[in-house]
Amino acid sequence: MISSDINLAKEIKKFKLNNNYAVITDDTVFKLYKERIDQQFSKEGLNYKFILFKHGEKSKKLKVFQKISEEMLRLGFDRKSSVIAFGGGVAGDIAGYVAGTFMRGIPFIQVPTTLLAQVDSSIGGKVAVDLKYGKNTTGLFYQPLKVIIDIDFLKSLPDIEFNHGMVEIIKHGIIRDEKYFKFIENNIFAIKKRAPKVLISLIYQSCLIKGDVVRKDEKEKDLRRILNFGHTIGHGIEVIKNYRLKHGQAVGFGILKESEISHKLGYLSKTDIMRIVQIINKFGIKPVKYNKKRLLNIIKNDKKNLRVKPGLEPAIPLVLPKKIGKVMIRNFSLDELKGLV
Ligand code: NAD
Repeated sequence: MISSDINLAKEIKKFKLNNNYAVITDDTVFKLYKERIDQQFSKEGLNYKFILFKHGEKSKKLKVFQKISEEMLRLGFDRKSSVIAFGGGVAGDIAGYVAGTFMRGIPFIQVPTTLLAQVDSSIGGKVAVDLKYGKNTTGLFYQPLKVIIDIDFLKSLPDIEFNHGMVEIIKHGIIRDEKYFKFIENNIFAIKKRAPKVLISLIYQSCLIKGDVVRKDEKEKDLRRILNFGHTIGHGIEVIKNYRLKHGQAVGFGILKESEISHKLGYLSKTDIMRIVQIINKFGIKPVKYNKKRLLNIIKNDKKNLRVKPGLEPAIPLVLPKKIGKVMIRNFSLDELKGLV
């Protein structure tokens, strides 16, 4: 559901779940929206308790996952309770992982509050936390009962976070739909002003694209891999920078690098790479300095790699745009990538 000024409690009540909700969110979102939740939930007679964690990617780890799960037990939540994942992609990923494992799985509803979460992370059922050696390396496919998207939450979102959501939106255009990419190019001004009509249109189109891919290949056996465009290099950069760099910035840079590789190999035309660079630059994505050897070392251990036998060098799949709206997946050896990243 995508709209503005949604009464969350009324929507949640429609599911007729047991009246016992854990609202899992970060400290920033809590400060901003506690009052709104309190008002709506109390008025509708919902029993709920907030469970908080510190905002940011650094919280997406097993320790925090464990702390939240134990807090759920301490507060008396049981197998009939439900989780509301309230916040950005980090809240969605952790709360979804908690919901998917607590008492072997309880229902959850995603209420995404960043643009990135509204167009991407809340859709598709991937929930996870990071381990020391890689992003999202322990997790589940666990679908929410519903995703409730209210564009009003975007009013308080800082520009930098808004831009990171735009990176995923641009990614959807590049991998699947040239017309959508053109729509973004033609509406930069309205997008930057966050005009409600254009926001709803963007979120709707992105959800359609991601939803269509996930419906065809939920468990990422084949087609869903195209959503990883920009993420192999992006995730590598996030690990190198010890998660101090924001996910959206890292993926934006990954999109530029992977497009550049495609151009170098003669797949992507000069016109198309220029369009990609221009639009990514419009949303403030900056070049990142990194150690090439370290990046290759991390990419070598990416969970998406395919090893024929343990111990053998992996084949490293990269999603490369052939033109805007169409991508291919090509496997590389580590040696091949050395000259390209
Ligand atoms: P985030 O959840 O850390 O949110 C970014 C910042 O915005 C945080 O500081 C948060 O407190 C703040 N914030 C959230 N809502 C706000 C609001 N309405 N107003 C003001 N501030 C607000 O990060 P994100 O960019 O939303 O998500 C990135 C995460 O999503 C990464 O961990 C990434 O791996 C994950 N992700 C998951 C999937 C998936 O399919 N599961 C897909 C893409 C990304």
